[in-house]
Amino acid sequence: MSILYKKLYKESFCKNIKTTSELNLNSSKYLKEQLVQMIKNWNYSYRGPYAVLEQSNGFGKTKACLGLVDEECYVVYCCLDEKKSNGYPQRSFLADEFLYGRNLEKFYTCYFNAFIDLLNTTEISCLDFFNKYIKNSDRDYSQTIMDLVESQIKNFSNDRDVPFYKGNKPLIFIFDDASSLLKVNRNYKGSTTCFDLIRNVLSNLRNNIFVLFVNMFTISSNFDVKIDPDPSARIAYRSLKELEPIYLLPTWDLYADQVKIEKISDSVKFENICMYGRPLWGSLLQTRKNSGQKYDYIGFSELYDLAIFKLTCGKMTESLNSNDILAVVGCRLGVIQPKSISRRQELVANNMAVCVYVKNSEYLFDIVYPSEPILAESAAFVKGVIGYVKIVESLIESLESSSVSIDDKAGLIGKLILLIAKDKAGRSVRVNEPFLYLNVVQVGVFLQKLYGECDEKCGNETNNWTCSSQNKKCVIKLVNEQLQDPDTLLNGYINFNHFVQSKTNMSETQLLPALKRCVAFQCKQNEKSINFVIPVCLNKDNLESISAIMVKVKLNNNPKNLENKSFVEYAFTEMSEDFDPYKGFLVLYMQLGQPKNKTSFISSLKPKEDHEFNKYHAIIYSQGISRDVFPILESDLDEKLVKLSQADDNPYLCNDFTSKKIYDSYFSL
Ligand SMILES: [Zn+2]
Repeated sequence: MSILYKKLYKESFCKNIKTTSELNLNSSKYLKEQLVQMIKNWNYSYRGPYAVLEQSNGFGKTKACLGLVDEECYVVYCCLDEKKSNGYPQRSFLADEFLYGRNLEKFYTCYFNAFIDLLNTTEISCLDFFNKYIKNSDRDYSQTIMDLVESQIKNFSNDRDVPFYKGNKPLIFIFDDASSLLKVNRNYKGSTTCFDLIRNVLSNLRNNIFVLFVNMFTISSNFDVKIDPDPSARIAYRSLKELEPIYLLPTWDLYADQVKIEKISDSVKFENICMYGRPLWGSLLQTRKNSGQKYDYIGFSELYDLAIFKLTCGKMTESLNSNDILAVVGCRLGVIQPKSISRRQELVANNMAVCVYVKNSEYLFDIVYPSEPILAESAAFVKGVIGYVKIVESLIESLESSSVSIDDKAGLIGKLILLIAKDKAGRSVRVNEPFLYLNVVQVGVFLQKLYGECDEKCGNETNNWTCSSQNKKCVIKLVNEQLQDPDTLLNGYINFNHFVQSKTNMSETQLLPALKRCVAFQCKQNEKSINFVIPVCLNKDNLESISAIMVKVKLNNNPKNLENKSFVEYAFTEMSEDFDPYKGFLVLYMQLGQPKNKTSFISSLKPKEDHEFNKYHAIIYSQGISRDVFPILESDLDEKLVKLSQADDNPYLCNDFTSKKIYDSYFSL
C-alpha cells in the first residue's frame, strides 16, 4: 500500500456516515437502537452488559461505532489490532496494557472507572468528550487517558466497587479488532485469556453502560467449559447467558446508483462495479473522486489489488488453503458452507464471507457470499493464477473428507463451465482495465467459446453469424437452424461474472438490475426445468430490450432418450408472464452425466410439431462432460470435473474399512 493510498484509506474512513436510501437507515442509528435494546434487556442472568459485533471486512463496523458519538453516546474507543496494520484505524497506544499487563483485572477496572468517574463529575457533550479524549490515538491524547487510568490505579483498593454511572446518555466502550483478547495470557494460570479476565470486571458495570467487542469471533459459550471440564456438570451449575452478537449492518449496496448505468458497456466499468456490495469499495472511490486531484495518482488497478488481497489475505498459488479456495469459488458460484462453525467464522474473518444469521446459544452461524461483482472479479483473477484444476481438486478433496456438503453438484459443475467460457470470452475481446476477464461479450462469441468454434468459416459479427463450414454440429449453425431471427440474439450482449441465488420466481423485471451488476441467476429450487438465467442485452445503446439464456443442468448417468417433448414451453412458463418470448431466447440443456457408450455430443432439441412459438427459441442440448463438447476444458479439467461429479460425501472413504461398513449399513434398505 503506498503512502498516498494509506491516506485515501484513512480519509474514506473518516467521512460521514451515509444513509442507505432504500432502508432509510444509517448504521450508527441502527447500532444505537440495538445497544439501547440490549442495555434494557440486560439483567443478572447475563454475564455482563456486553456483546460482540462481528461481520466481514469492509462493512463499516468501525465507522458505525464511531458514529455513535453523533447519536448522543459517550464513546470510548480502543483498537487492539495485533498485526502491525498499515491501515486505519490504528492500534491504540493502550493496547499493550490491555493484553500484556501483569495485573490485568486491576487495570481493566481502573480503565472503566476512569471514564465513569470523569463523566460523573464533568459536564461535557458527547462530541467534545470524544474529541478531547478519544479521537486521536497518538501519544499526546492517549497520555491524558493514561493519566486518568493511572490516578485510578494509585487510589485503587480492592473493596471499592465500580462507581455507579449517573449519566442519561449511554456510555459505550468499544474494543475494536478484539480477537487478541481471546489469546491465553501467560501471566495467569491455566488457559485464562484476557477476555476471561475482562469479563469478570464487566459484570460489575451497571446502568446505561455497554461494552462492544468488535470482530471477536467466538462461540463462547453459555457453559463455561474451562471452569467445568466435566461436561455433565453443566446441569448442576446454573449457567450465565451472554447477549447474542450483532452482525447485521444496513450498509449493503450503500453506494449503488442504478441511474449511472445507461448502457451495457457502463455496467463493466470499474466505477460502477465498485458501487455494489460492501461500502468499502464505493467509499474509497467516492473519496478519491471528491478530493480534487489529490488522489489521481492512485490508479484503479491499485484499488482492484486491494479487493484481490482481501479475498485470500494476500495469498496466491501454493499457500492457498482449502478455505481460501472455498472463498474463491463462493463469491462467484454462491457459498459452499463448510460443516464446522469455526471454518465458517474463518471465512468471515479472513475471506470476506458475510454472516447472515448468528445465534451463539444454539451454535448457529450462517454465511453467504451475496452478489458483489468486484469480489467476483477478484476471484476470477485468483482462479486465473492458480488454475481451475487446482480448484476442482480441492473441492473433490473437501467433499470426500466430508468437510463440506454440496447439495447441487450438477449446478456447481454447470456454473463452473459457464464461467470458464465467459472468462475466456471476456479475455478475448478488447481490454477493460484494470480487469482481465470482466467484459461485455456477444452471445455468439460466448457460445463459440463454450462449445467450440468450428473453423474460420464460422459465423461472426461481420458476416451476420452465418456459418459456411461443413461442420453440422457447429453451435452457431444449430442456433441459425432454429431461430427466425438469429442475428438479434447472437449479437446480444452478456456481462455476468458470478451467480446469485434468486429469492423469487424468475421474471423479466429481475433481468435489468442483474445486468447492471453483472450477475446471472440461480433459480429458486422449485423451478425444476431451468436452473440458471443469464440476462442478455439486445441493444448496444440502451437497456430497453432484454432477453435471456436459460440453462438447464442434469447429472443423470446413462441418460435415456432425449427428452424431446416441448421442454422449452414448460421452462418458459416458469419465467412468469412478463417475459416476452418473441424477442427470441436461448436454452442450453446441459446433461452432465456420463453416457454409457461414452459418446458425448451436442444437438438441437426441438419439438417436431410446427408451432409458431418454435421460431423464437433455440435449444442446444449437450451430453457429457468432455472436451468434445466443451473444448475450453483444457489440461484434464474435463476428467477432474467428471471425478467431481462422481465424488461422494463419505467420511470413511479410504482409511477405516470397518467403520465404513458400519456407516454404510445405516443407509442400506
Ligand atoms: Zn460454425
